[in-house]
Amino acid sequence: MEKAEPEAPHVLILPIPAQGHLKPMLKLAELLSYASFQITFLNTEYFHHTFLSSIDIHAFSRRFPKFQFVTIPDGIPPDSPRPGKSIAHSLISLTDAAKPAVVEVLVSLRSKSGRPPTCIIADGIMSSAAVAAGEEFGIPVLAFRTYSACCTWTYFHLSNLIEGGEVPLPDKDMDKLVTCIPGLENVLRRRDLPSFCRLEKADDHLLYDFFIAQASAMRRASALILNTFEQLETPFISKLASIFSKIYTIGPLHCLSNVDDPTALASTKSIFWQEEKGCLTWLDSHPSKSVVFVSFGSVVTFTLDQMLEFWHGLVNSGKPFLWVIRSNAIIGEDDPRKILEDLKDNTKGKGSIVSWAPQEEVLAHPAVGAFLTHSGWNSTLESIYAGVPMICWPLFVDQYVNSRCVSHVWRVGFDMKDSCHRSIVEKMVRDVIEMKNEEIMKSMEEISKQAQESVKESGPSYCNLDKMIQDIMSVNLENINRRD
Ligand code: UDP
Repeated sequence: MEKAEPEAPHVLILPIPAQGHLKPMLKLAELLSYASFQITFLNTEYFHHTFLSSIDIHAFSRRFPKFQFVTIPDGIPPDSPRPGKSIAHSLISLTDAAKPAVVEVLVSLRSKSGRPPTCIIADGIMSSAAVAAGEEFGIPVLAFRTYSACCTWTYFHLSNLIEGGEVPLPDKDMDKLVTCIPGLENVLRRRDLPSFCRLEKADDHLLYDFFIAQASAMRRASALILNTFEQLETPFISKLASIFSKIYTIGPLHCLSNVDDPTALASTKSIFWQEEKGCLTWLDSHPSKSVVFVSFGSVVTFTLDQMLEFWHGLVNSGKPFLWVIRSNAIIGEDDPRKILEDLKDNTKGKGSIVSWAPQEEVLAHPAVGAFLTHSGWNSTLESIYAGVPMICWPLFVDQYVNSRCVSHVWRVGFDMKDSCHRSIVEKMVRDVIEMKNEEIMKSMEEISKQAQESVKESGPSYCNLDKMIQDIMSVNLENINRRD
């Protein structure tokens, strides 16, 4: 009698429907597919339509016959705009709606195949929904925190910040070091704490409580996955090991591959906006390391005043710039489209403005010598991998922590946090493009090399991905002692 093939592990993936979270999650799902895993990827109904228009779903299904998308509600009425009333409200609606939806999907998958999936990999921000469902079905949950290890560690201390009297922040000395997060006593000032610690808006309170609840649920996960690499964040990864008995650091994930031909990966495609590839040709006409790339990610918005400070600072620096301004990035104006058109006209001969760029390719282009960024975690890792020093202007959640690490831990850029005055922009741009700060150039070269080594075959991130695949295959995770 022929021996039956062992069944492939089946992983249920629960992402957050935002570009910066979906991209690494989809990439991880694809890497697991290349290891022959069966994948059920939960998309919100709204997002799935967007997704269908950005990837060739038939080609995708042919490549990964064991990969299926299943849709779940996001808790916002179908005809309402996204992200709903605010990001805080959307996250709360999303996790509330996800709890029963995940259970329903698990019931359906179990009844179809006679067993539930092997495990759930959930965005750390979805921990409450994922852990509750995992515990009900007796399957392990791996929390994938798409932030840095340092920031993940910070989020585990949000309650300490209140108990230590650091939060709320208004009316305090913002440059004072925060002493109640072990290991970060000499790193984070009050102004470097995640944006919602300022508790300036009603939403900040909602986000604060939301993140405390998710961090608390995340402690019950069987393992932690991080998009970072060991050499970059050893101290914080070690600290997180006091909470999680298994941690898989698999970054920079955007360039990790377990196949020879990763060109068809859907995760390399932009999900929400069409890329203007022509900017690569524009870059071709510029000398090596002469251009400033300016991009503030998929969520950050500006006032017109802020935008003009950046524009004047860039123009006054005299350095050519390639600036991504999304069509929805300018807020508080009646006719943002007209403003953008005027800005583009006035930029001719000085730089180029596009609505969305192939960012990874832009950063890898030899003409790019500096990255003016909002310090989103994907952007930070992409810049490190490409070896492009950063000028940071954080505006939201983890970006405040990341930019501090860029300037004061890894020393691979400058942090202009809380002020975008044109004179600061001009000075920092000149300093980076003219390579005035040798320390930054040298550290970036070293760290970038480590990032590239870490994803090579036999590099630590490559090996950790392999280890995670082996652990899921042997359902090793079930034997992990959970720490409540
Ligand atoms: N991105 C892109 N083109 C752009 C701007 C951004 O492809 O013009 C990508 C970028 O490469 C990164 C992601 O969008 O992978 C943004 O993620 P990040 O975590 O940096 O910021 P977020 O958008 O979540 O604030």
